[in-house]
Formats: sequence, structure tokens, C-alpha cells
Amino acid sequence: MPIMDGKLVAKETREKIKNEVQSFYEKYKSIPGLAVIQVGDNQASSVYVRNKHNACREAGMVSYEVHLPENISESDLLHEIELLNNDIAVDGILVQLPLPKHINEENIINAINPLKDVDAFHPINVGKIMVGNYDFLPCTPAGIMTLLDYYNIDIQGKKVLVIGRSNIVGKPMVHLMLEKNATVIVAHSKTRKDDLLRLFATSDIVVSATGVRNIIDEDDALQYFKDYRHDFYRDFSVLRDRVIIDVGINRDENGKLCGDLAEDFKAKYSEYYTPVPGGVGPMTITTLLRNTLKAAKLLRK
Ligand code: NAD
Repeated sequence: MPIMDGKLVAKETREKIKNEVQSFYEKYKSIPGLAVIQVGDNQASSVYVRNKHNACREAGMVSYEVHLPENISESDLLHEIELLNNDIAVDGILVQLPLPKHINEENIINAINPLKDVDAFHPINVGKIMVGNYDFLPCTPAGIMTLLDYYNIDIQGKKVLVIGRSNIVGKPMVHLMLEKNATVIVAHSKTRKDDLLRLFATSDIVVSATGVRNIIDEDDALQYFKDYRHDFYRDFSVLRDRVIIDVGINRDENGKLCGDLAEDFKAKYSEYYTPVPGGVGPMTITTLLRNTLKAAKLLRK
């Protein structure tokens, strides 16, 4: 069974978190609370925010919806964050990105109390991850590590290709892989396509986080064989021991949700892979719940 079932792993992990929330309640007589700030009515953001609220409630936590108008000023938004920073019922604060263009995202992220920063985007938390002494891990990369662990995928000494270098996924992914003693390579928009193919063909684990549909496809694979002596590099199709983690969220020509790589391509060129939907997405929200519980514990220390 080559598919890594994010829905299943998320369900099992959330059950465990729910039990931990219950124990937390018995110990502190309070319930962890997450505030999710949404600015404006971006359709995709509304879906993500709704999913986060539902997941919180299902795990027995409180979720606070802070829905603000699209034209809110940066200073008013900063004031809202200050209120949440000082609110003892709120353990975690998440600002749904992207924000409207007139608001500087960096200023907003920097205003969140690092102890309530359940997305782990604040520079203090980013720095802590760099030195390997962190309270929170960013939700998507940490969710991926939980998934790999569930499927007993050994990382030590493995060659890991991370495609994408965003602050949210690519860069923290590199650190988490390094922490597990992988040999990590990062590809990005300026990486030459022939290099990308060669790295894909020779890696043990590939994490694709680009938001570019069909970043590598069957034609590329065939081109690779034409261009390179495949007795020298590992053979794409013969060796299927590659693990493919597909983080991308894209739409196909029919508007259907799809990843960076086609499902049949992943099935053909991997031993294990994450589908889209149902792979990385559910794990991201699961880490958010874990981080909120962690924040609640840290704030009561
Ligand atoms: P981003 O736009 O910030 O970064 C994209 C990265 O892809 C960049 O670093 C860029 O250098 C790289 N890239 C672009 N074109 C490339 C190419 N041709 N070759 C190699 N690299 C290329 O995006 P992000 O926030 O990191 O998100 C990436 C994707 O993951 C998006 O589709 C996003 O929706 C999705 N995502 C999913 C989840 C989830 O929970 N499933 C969470 C976060 C992001």
C-alpha cells in the first residue's frame, strides 16, 4: 500500500491530543484556547479557518473567531493582537495568511507573543528552530515528520530533496530533516530543470512544496533518460524506493484539488507517497492542535 494516509494518521493523532486536553483540564481546570484571526473574506482562507475551528472543537479546545474587515488598518490589527496577547483565555494566536496588501505581514507576526505563536512564524521561534531548542514547530513541516514517523520511514543518512524554500514550509523542513541526520538538498525557482530532475531521480525522500502543478511529470522523466546515462544515476522506474511528500495545493483544469505532482506519477515513481487531498493537509491542522496544547502548558508554567 504505497499511499501515506494523512487523514488516518491525523485522526489517530487527534484522538491522542483530545485525551491530553482532557488531562490538561483535570490538572488546570481550564481549556486550551486558540484565536484565529481572519482579515477579509478570501474564500480559500475562510475554508482553512473553518477547518481549524472545527478541529479545535473536536479536540475539546476552545476556538475564538476573530473576523476583521478587509480594510482594517495595520495599527487596528496590531491592537487586536495586543488584546489577544493579554487575554488569559487565549493560549494560541494564529493569523490566517495572506493578509491584504496594505498590511505588513512581518509587523503582524512580530507582534504576536512568541509563547502564543502556534504557527511558529515569529523570529524568536524561527531562531529557536535554527539552534534546535524550540517550543513550537511550524505546522506543515512538523506534520510531515509525524507522518514519516508513523510509516516508520527512516531518515538518518537519507538523501532528502526539498523543493521550495519558503519560510513556512521549505526552510523549516530543511532544519527538521537535518535534525534527523538526513543529507538535505534544496531546489527552488532558480534551480535548473535538468538539476531538478537529476536530484529527484537520485533522492530517497522528496518533499515538494511549490504550488506549481506538475513540477515534474512523465515527460520530464522520459527526457531525463534521454539526456543522462541512467546506468550512472539511479533509475527512475526500476527503483521505487523513493518517498514523495506532496505539499502543493493546486487546482487542475476542472477545478479539482491537486498537488505539485500527478497522483499516477507519484504512484509510479515512489514506494510511499502522500495524496492530495488527504495527505499533508490534515497533518498541518493536527500540529496546530498540538502547538496550542503546548502553548497552554507553557503559559501555565
Ligand atoms: P511559496 O509560494 O511561498 O513558495 C513556493 C516555493 O516554490 C518558492 O520557494 C519557490 O522558489 C519554489 N518554486 C517555484 N517554482 C519552482 C520551480 N519551477 N522549481 C523549483 N522550485 C520552485 O509557497 P508555500 O507557502 O511554501 O506553499 C507551497 C505550496 O504548498 C502551495 O501550493 C501551498 O498552497 C501549499 N501548502 C500546503 C499546506 C498544507 O497544509 N497542505 C501548507 C502550506 C502550504
